[in-house]
Amino acid sequence: MVKRILVTGGAGFIGSNLCRTLLQANPENEVICLDNFLTGSRQNIEKLLNNDKFKLLEHDIIDPLPDDLIVDEIYNLACPASPLHYQKDPVYTTKISVFGIINMLELAKRCNAKLLQASTSEVYGEPEVHPQVENYRGNVNPIGIRSCYDEGKRCAESLLFDYHRMYGVKIKVIRIFNTYGPHMNPSDGRVVSNFIMQALQDEDITIYGDGTQTRSFCYIDDLLEGIMKMMASDDSFIGPVNLGNPEEISMNELAGKVIELSDSASRLIFKALPLDDPARRKPVIALAKKKIGWEPGIPLEEGLRRTIAYFRSLKV
Ligand code: UDP
Repeated sequence: MVKRILVTGGAGFIGSNLCRTLLQANPENEVICLDNFLTGSRQNIEKLLNNDKFKLLEHDIIDPLPDDLIVDEIYNLACPASPLHYQKDPVYTTKISVFGIINMLELAKRCNAKLLQASTSEVYGEPEVHPQVENYRGNVNPIGIRSCYDEGKRCAESLLFDYHRMYGVKIKVIRIFNTYGPHMNPSDGRVVSNFIMQALQDEDITIYGDGTQTRSFCYIDDLLEGIMKMMASDDSFIGPVNLGNPEEISMNELAGKVIELSDSASRLIFKALPLDDPARRKPVIALAKKKIGWEPGIPLEEGLRRTIAYFRSLKV
């Protein structure tokens, strides 16, 4: 069956990679990329615009979608995801998550479409359980500077499950852990893009705090495979399911790897740790393995090599 697939945030880092992969996976399908270019970029989708199965819809998901839009599948990825960007206008960030998901759920209900929501490891907040498993309910500061993103995404999960229970809307909830790779915005403000950009220019590498905090980084191609497997899974499996790479690393170690792999002369400098910055993060992915047969295959060093090559090619 030929499908019409909507990708919100389709010009962003994950979204643009997903649009391209969806078109490659089934050239018959139509992919509609929705974006308002708040943090997404036209450059990310430039090449896709030549494909007549690819359509661009410039729209903000906080507004309802056109009545004549009919789709079979929705990937809801639209939301600034870097703390630097989502904290610029936190009220708007909450609206994107909350009004945005209501508009997507209404669309899914009207079209009887399947809706996959990009939720986040941020729903676990500053985790008291390590590593994080899906049934852990999290430890989010509801009044902190990250809460616009964290609580927005938590409220979106709540709405998804309520629409599912009340109206039978077909939902899929994935919780994405830190992801990196080509088409990340070089000025995104996130750790991988910052470190690589700094290393390539032999500038000081900015470690926030003492650098002992950890994250677990998943390469974009692995994540895309997980996202698409989740969408293709049986309707009875709705998640939430963690998608991430369980290889945990401290920011100090990450900086060391980036310096080594990019053959850089950069040195480390230490800056203040942002408020509410989680100390540790690592996914348990047993559920993804069991239910959708997914686990990441690209080791951090390999992924970093590819990402460094991409940033080098940008010549920024
Ligand atoms: N970080 C850092 N230097 C930077 C940017 C980020 O040390 O230039 C740290 C940040 O404080 C956090 C970790 O790297 O502990 C991951 O930050 P990022 O913004 O990439 O993602 P998130 O905090 O949302 O996981």
